Amino acid sequence: MDPNATHFVNFQALLIGSKRKFDERWKQPFVERGKLEDFKLIQTLGTGSFGRVMLVKAKKDDSPFALKMLEKAHVVKTKQVKHTISEIRTMDSFDFPFLIKLEYFFKDNVYLCLVMPFVNGGEMFSHLRQQKRFSEELTRFYAAQVILAFEYIHFLGIIYRDLKPENILIDCIGYLKITDYGFCKKVDDQRTYTLCGTPEYLAPEIILSQGYNKSVDWWALGVLIFEMAAGYPPFYARDPMKIYEKIVSGKYIPANHFSKSLKDIIQNFLQVDRTKRFGILKGGAMDIKQHVFFKEIIWDTVYYKTMTPPYAVDVPEKDDVRYFEQYTEIPVKKSSKNLFAAEFAVISDRFVRVHW
Ligand code: AMP
Repeated sequence: MDPNATHFVNFQALLIGSKRKFDERWKQPFVERGKLEDFKLIQTLGTGSFGRVMLVKAKKDDSPFALKMLEKAHVVKTKQVKHTISEIRTMDSFDFPFLIKLEYFFKDNVYLCLVMPFVNGGEMFSHLRQQKRFSEELTRFYAAQVILAFEYIHFLGIIYRDLKPENILIDCIGYLKITDYGFCKKVDDQRTYTLCGTPEYLAPEIILSQGYNKSVDWWALGVLIFEMAAGYPPFYARDPMKIYEKIVSGKYIPANHFSKSLKDIIQNFLQVDRTKRFGILKGGAMDIKQHVFFKEIIWDTVYYKTMTPPYAVDVPEKDDVRYFEQYTEIPVKKSSKNLFAAEFAVISDRFVRVHW
């Protein structure tokens, strides 16, 4: 199938060029840029087991950024050193409209600090809970961006493995930025076996330890499309073991209001049998882009962000935090000793990035 059939621009050539740039960037020595003292810490935007993400402002011109502070001690204790290094390097090398990019990276004695653009519309998760569910038009618009992002990531030989509404941010004009590359892995055509991700979004082949590749991301997209349009995920139970049973059975009940084309696209993603799953069939992503559910999508207008988003967030100022929860602020830790220097020496300015 012609890989450019759904675009006016030569999308295949664009992907080839992007891969060349990614590979070049990947091989270059990783240089630390910036330091904590360059920023004013404003407030916490989100937390996780790793530490937290803060709104900060550059002292030089007051421009806002999101600063992810990973406590080195915690990363080492939870054996996440490799994952974390991979996350930083991935964020530094990706360059795509719907993927968050690293602006600066530096270490201090206690933390690894990742500075990203501040995406002020907040998480898709909050908007979805607030609106209960998205219209099919909005579901389609968001899904289209994830599809283009997955085409790019997969073309680089990487799988994402953590799609969910919490990891998708909405920018001030209503377009998406996917974040959190902690589970990204360069697999090329190899299979991988690690059990990771979020229970409701896991593909059957991950649960069954069958070895997997890109197929798991397309399954997760099926789950996301269902959740965006229904307001709840297709496989749900309080007990994760019960969720897994439902996933491997492949049985779910579409909401009554789902249109025929929406039901059909979801069914094509939520195929337990991978030989039937959209995204990894002979037509690749083209099977998805040419599906009737996406008939109204002009893919180039999504890629170039010239399509008017069906839903725009209301953020009058660049540093507006109305879409973020309030967190209790805790003081930034200090140490006179450079903690775990050896563990993170690989991400110093001497490191040449050749291994994942
Ligand atoms: P992460 O661990 O990257 O998923 O970040 C945890 C939370 O911090 C996210 O779910 C967001 O609420 C927030 N966050 C992360 N990155 C950004 C960003 N670039 N702009 C705004 N908020 C962010």
